Amino acid sequence: MPQKKFLPQILLALVLFGPLLSCQSLPKERHYTGVYHSVRPGQTLYRIAKTYDVSVVTLMRLNNISDASQIQVGRKIWIPGARTIRQVPATALKKETPAPKRFSRPVEEASLPPLKGYLIWPLKGTLTSTFGSRGNGHHDGIDIGAKRGASVVAAAEGRVVFSDWGPKGYGLMVIIKHPNHLTTVYAHNSKNWVKKNETVKQGQRIASVGTTGRSSGPHLHFEVRNHTHPKNPLKFLPARR
Ligand SMILES: [Zn+2]
Repeated sequence: MPQKKFLPQILLALVLFGPLLSCQSLPKERHYTGVYHSVRPGQTLYRIAKTYDVSVVTLMRLNNISDASQIQVGRKIWIPGARTIRQVPATALKKETPAPKRFSRPVEEASLPPLKGYLIWPLKGTLTSTFGSRGNGHHDGIDIGAKRGASVVAAAEGRVVFSDWGPKGYGLMVIIKHPNHLTTVYAHNSKNWVKKNETVKQGQRIASVGTTGRSSGPHLHFEVRNHTHPKNPLKFLPARR
């Protein structure tokens, strides 16, 4: 009987290709639990897969999708193993205009262009020393002379990340971190009025002028740093009248 000869081959073929064949046919036959997720505007296959914790490839295979970037709104995607339909976050729709860049949004790059007028002067006083090389070293900030006890204010809104005695000659100092990788430093204070982790508003008093640390008289040493790189504060401050 010739058929008998072929029977082992047919069985082998079924064992090998059976799972593949059933995958290509109706998915419900293989995955008893699952839901149909109806695609909403802005939802990508990637997001859907992530939300339901299945692979994109699985969804593509089970739903006969050849191009993952081309899934129509309203299409029902079979999600194997899911028991309930979940909320899938939508990505920004292409037709929407991109949100304008604002200072409150994080700036990714390390080199931040000077943002003239982003900061306000932290102290009313006399500019006694500018940013740049000074003697053999480098002056990482500017010095503003004023009477002892005069109010030092936050140059911009932010969070206090340091309020204590600073390193090498800074004396009593405050460091504020702003939302865009910018940090401002206020040194030689006679008193700090803010604590670490406190959020401060622009113009809020944070310290009183003093002469703590390596200082020859009451003044504020003010620094602007992008990440850790000192920048010329005058490029961020409004012009003085
Ligand atoms: Zn200084």
